[in-house]
Amino acid sequence: MKKILIVGQGIAGTLLAWSLRRRGCSVFIADGNLAGGSSNVAAGIINPVTGKRFVKSWRFDEFFPVAKAMYQQIELEFGISIWEERPTLRLLGTPEEANDWAIRCAQPDYANHLSETENAGAWGAFLKPGFRFGIIQKSARVKFPLLLSAFRENFRQEGFLLKKY
Ligand SMILES: Cc1cc2nc3c(=O)[nH]c(=O)nc-3n(C[C@H](O)[C@H](O)[C@H](O)COP(=O)(O)OP(=O)(O)OC[C@H]3O[C@@H](n4cnc5c(N)ncnc54)[C@H](O)[C@@H]3O)c2cc1C
Repeated sequence: MKKILIVGQGIAGTLLAWSLRRRGCSVFIADGNLAGGSSNVAAGIINPVTGKRFVKSWRFDEFFPVAKAMYQQIELEFGISIWEERPTLRLLGTPEEANDWAIRCAQPDYANHLSETENAGAWGAFLKPGFRFGIIQKSARVKFPLLLSAFRENFRQEGFLLKKY
C-alpha cells in the first residue's frame, strides 16, 4: 500500500487526502495551523461567471457536476450539510456593466447560466434603487469551516493527523 504524507489541511490537502484514501492509499496529514490559511476564511462560493468581463470559468460545465457529487458524498459519509446550491445575484453597477451582461446573456454558451432582473428580492432593502442585477444559475456555496473541522476530527480520531493543534 502506498504511504503518502500531505502537508497542509486546507481545502486542497483535505480533499486530496479523502480522494487518495478512497483509492486505497495510506495517507497522513500534517498541518502547522499557520495564520493566513485561506480555506478558513473563504466564502466557499462556486461561481461559473466571474471577473470584470463576466467570463465563464475553464471547463466549468464538466467540473460542476463532479464537485457537486463529491461534496454530496462527503455530506453522506460525515453526516454534515455543506453544499448549498442557489443562484447568485450580481450587482451591475454601471450602464456599461449592464450592457456587457446583456451581451453575455445572449451568447449560447452562457444562456443556461445567466439572466437579468431589476428586482433584487430581499437584498433590495439594502441597496439604492436604480441598479440592474445579473442572476447566475448553477452556483453554490460550500461550508468550508464545517467541512474542514469534520475532516480534522476524523483524521485525529483515526490517527492520520501528525501535528496536534
Ligand atoms: C477572504 C477570502 C475569500 C475567498 N473566497 C473564495 C470563494 O468564495 N470561492 C473560492 O473558490 N475561493 C475563495 N477563496 C480562495 C480559496 O480560499 C483558496 O483558493 C483555497 O482555500 C486554497 O486552499 P489551500 O488548501 O490550497 O490553501 P490553505 O487553505 O491556505 O491551506 C494551506 C494549509 O497548509 C498549512 N501549511 C502551510 N505551510 C505549512 C507548513 N510548512 N507546514 C505545515 N502546514 C503548513 C496551513 O496551516 C493551512 O492550513 C477565498 C480566499 C480568501 C482569502
